[in-house]
Amino acid sequence: MRVLGYLDGSVADPDDPAIKVADLGLLRGDGVFETVLIENGEPRELDLHLDRLARSARMTELPEPDDAQWERAIRAVIDHWPDDSEIAMKLIYTRGLDAEPDSPPTAFALGLEISPRMMRERTEGIAAITLERGVEPGLAERAPWLLLGAKTLSYAVNMAALREADRRGASDVIFTATDGSVLEGPTVSVVLVRGRTLYTPPPIIGILPGTTQAAVYRGAERAGFTAKIETLTVDDLLSGDGVFVASSVRKLTRVHTLDGKALTDSTELHRELSAAYESVYR
Ligand code: PLP
Repeated sequence: MRVLGYLDGSVADPDDPAIKVADLGLLRGDGVFETVLIENGEPRELDLHLDRLARSARMTELPEPDDAQWERAIRAVIDHWPDDSEIAMKLIYTRGLDAEPDSPPTAFALGLEISPRMMRERTEGIAAITLERGVEPGLAERAPWLLLGAKTLSYAVNMAALREADRRGASDVIFTATDGSVLEGPTVSVVLVRGRTLYTPPPIIGILPGTTQAAVYRGAERAGFTAKIETLTVDDLLSGDGVFVASSVRKLTRVHTLDGKALTDSTELHRELSAAYESVYR
């Protein structure tokens, strides 16, 4: 199921031709995006997603996105979605046909269904592997042109890492920096729990500030947990009481196995934290 919406509020058949072959988003991956979860017809963390889209646009020198137009496109897709199932809403924003500053970008919202595998893994948990990302601490600040921490359309490396996980019998990846510290996954944030405290690495190291991680933190703090932003090592993950990956599509998914090693059973913790996360939307 796919529904395509434009920023003027119109919808179109997603199977009809819409993108010109010379679009720089297509030719060079030159653009930015977001994936917003729509549940019960309502976007989750829309303000955080639109803020992050604007930040990615600034980092790539795309024109400032107009929030009202994006909200119109999102609403058009929701209104044309045929049932009450969840939607993974892609907001796609590319350089368009020309790199000149006054040339119009390409922008649309595309609603997609969430795969049965993702749904199943939300409850069953997943095996993950760690993979090197090749970035060193301080690189994000030193070399802003690398766009670490921008959500660009250049996700070929992220997708290759997921295929590597698949080859190794796992479902997701936790990237590490050259000093062994934990970064994020190709499409997820990483959350560690020790006792009643949640930890996630700081965005300054060149990772995305996760909107789901932020919502999990809000819910968990309300439920009596402490939430911290700190650098983590793989050993921290292996010795923790729970390791989770968080994203708009994954929600909060439990990692039961890391690099082939069984982690502490966090089934109960997952139940509690998922309830805390869902409580944010009630
Ligand atoms: N990190 C990366 C690299 C991502 O691509 C994503 C989402 O796609 C996330 C983290 C999680 O972000 P969010 O919770 O806002 O979906």
